[in-house]
Amino acid sequence: MTPEEFRRAGYAVVDWIADYWSTLGERPVTSQDPPGTVAAALPPTAPERGEPVDAVLADLDALVTPGLTHWQHPGFFGYFPANTSGPSVLGDMVSAALGVQGMLWATGPACTELETVMLDWLAELMDLPGRFRSTGAGGGVIQDSASSATLVATLAALHRASKGRWRADGLDRRYRAYTSTQGHSSIEKAARVAGLGAEGVRVVEVDPASQAMDPTALRAAIEADLAAGDVPAIVVATVGTTSTTAVDPLPEIGEICAEYGVWLHVDAAYAGAAAVCPELRWAHAGLERADSYCFDPHKWLLTGFDCDAFWVADRAELVEALTVMPEYLRNAASESGAVIDYRDWQVPLGRRFRALKLWFVLRWYGAEGLRAHIRSGVALADRFAARVAGDERFELAAAYPFSLVCFRLVAGDEASAELLSRVNATGRVHLTHTRVAGRYALRLAVGSPSTTEAHVDEAWQLLSSAADELLAP
Ligand code: PLP
Repeated sequence: MTPEEFRRAGYAVVDWIADYWSTLGERPVTSQDPPGTVAAALPPTAPERGEPVDAVLADLDALVTPGLTHWQHPGFFGYFPANTSGPSVLGDMVSAALGVQGMLWATGPACTELETVMLDWLAELMDLPGRFRSTGAGGGVIQDSASSATLVATLAALHRASKGRWRADGLDRRYRAYTSTQGHSSIEKAARVAGLGAEGVRVVEVDPASQAMDPTALRAAIEADLAAGDVPAIVVATVGTTSTTAVDPLPEIGEICAEYGVWLHVDAAYAGAAAVCPELRWAHAGLERADSYCFDPHKWLLTGFDCDAFWVADRAELVEALTVMPEYLRNAASESGAVIDYRDWQVPLGRRFRALKLWFVLRWYGAEGLRAHIRSGVALADRFAARVAGDERFELAAAYPFSLVCFRLVAGDEASAELLSRVNATGRVHLTHTRVAGRYALRLAVGSPSTTEAHVDEAWQLLSSAADELLAP
């Protein structure tokens, strides 16, 4: 493809994207087709002769989009949002076009330096503790996901807990990770990948009312492990749990971690973005004790997947844990010690120029635009929660400090599950579910930038009418 051919095809693709976005609300949110439909519609082999991009775009319309769950749809209320936006797509496009590998400063100086500055910008925007800034001993990096951030934090914690022996000897003792019953599944996965085994994860009870980690239970678990000769390595606390957006008590947890010398990682994958708004920063109280922290701009901050922002308080410790220097990567800049080589901050070697999409997003929206986005999600969730609270057939299942509302039918689990399935079958909205203290609950998570009051009201109308039918005598 020549640059001129690219220009023509590129305009067509951008037109296709703009058309897709502007007609999204008219499509069913999820595909109604049975499994295998898309695969069966595709040819069994790759084409022998090249085809024009127009032919691919036609098949995108005919074969692919009808088989999608449309995460950017204004009626998408499932899981947590996975926002993208125009500026993010444009930034990604430039990154793809540059095709830069940013594993070393030397392989992409601007790629590295823009990323460091973007993470400092974000830290400033969210008023994160000073220890995470690159101007001190800390610093930030973009990981592909919060799961990778937890893995990297776990590896650094093992390095610290083993006093450096982990690098050479692997796990020489029984090391332990701690999270609450509400911690994300990626915490167990990270522990397993790191060699702790699922058994190495201590699951700490939560306060039944708040669903937040019980610090007394955490202390007891750590003390029991120490008494058994095991080594507490890392506590993963959550700001905004996946089920209900509960916030673990960081001040108490941080104190316990400091007392026992345990690494504290804070996983704020979804809710961290809220800290761009000063009135929502309460959720970060106590963060100054954390050794590492992450949130996903790819969830609620208008930056397309993959973009997890991960900070450490001591970048030297992280690099010491992960660095490996083969001859073929040796270079004067790395050896000078004056540059950041981000390959030492992550598991893979290669890395894309992901800071570009963040730069495009931060410059397009500005702090003001990002705050407006978060506030709109919070206000829409409040609006929906008020409907739930005002209808005696329904009840709220948990507090809703951000843009997720958990609720259920008073009639019970079976009725609530049936309600979810009926409402999703309309194709107008998509909600998911969880269990709160053992009881079934529907989850409505607001996050798409195109979701308005009208969409939230429609979701409520659909739920209310489905409840009418379901509960009719
Ligand atoms: N942590 C929490 C609290 C989450 O809610 C999620 C996903 O929803 C994750 C981690 C995993 O996120 P990622 O897909 O970025 O690994």
